[in-house]
Amino acid sequence: MVEDKLSKYKKKRDFNVTPEPYTSEKISKKARFVVQKHEARNLHYDFRLEVEGVLKSWAVPKGPSVDYTQKRLAIPTEDHPLDYIDFEGTIPEGNYGAGTMIVWDTGTYRNLKENDGHEIPIEKTIEDGRVEFILEGEKLKGAYALIRTGKEGKKFWLFFKMKELHRDNRDILKEQPESVLSGKTVEDLKKEQ
Ligand code: MN
Repeated sequence: MVEDKLSKYKKKRDFNVTPEPYTSEKISKKARFVVQKHEARNLHYDFRLEVEGVLKSWAVPKGPSVDYTQKRLAIPTEDHPLDYIDFEGTIPEGNYGAGTMIVWDTGTYRNLKENDGHEIPIEKTIEDGRVEFILEGEKLKGAYALIRTGKEGKKFWLFFKMKELHRDNRDILKEQPESVLSGKTVEDLKKEQ
């Protein structure tokens, strides 16, 4: 099952060359999320949710925000293996996604979607295009949503913090650019090459 979900991921990559993980062995009790800052051809942030043995993934060009007034475009990408959850490093030139990557934030999440007091499985909420969850990360905390919107043929997703009493208008991407795992920035990784 997990193998089927990862076929797209594996087809795009040559694991003799890229240091990216291809296994899903790092299982945890609580569902996790990760935001990876990825300085590829275009800088973006990859947002991933642990769902049924894989990491459901979206590329967020402008990155996440702690300000509920900021809605960010999110583009679905292929499911990633669980072991990608703590991947940092350099994807060599000529490979898919070539560039540097750090774990900008990580932690656990809690599904918020329910119907008559019963939790709707997160997988179903993704299918439905209405995903709501609490993030318990180091930088991102609180209720966030991923919503599919737009008309047929022109669908897209938005990723944003749900409305709260007090607006937090910090630019957290600028204020805290470093990895929560290593303390390194993507610039540090580039210099190490
Ligand atoms: Mn990426």
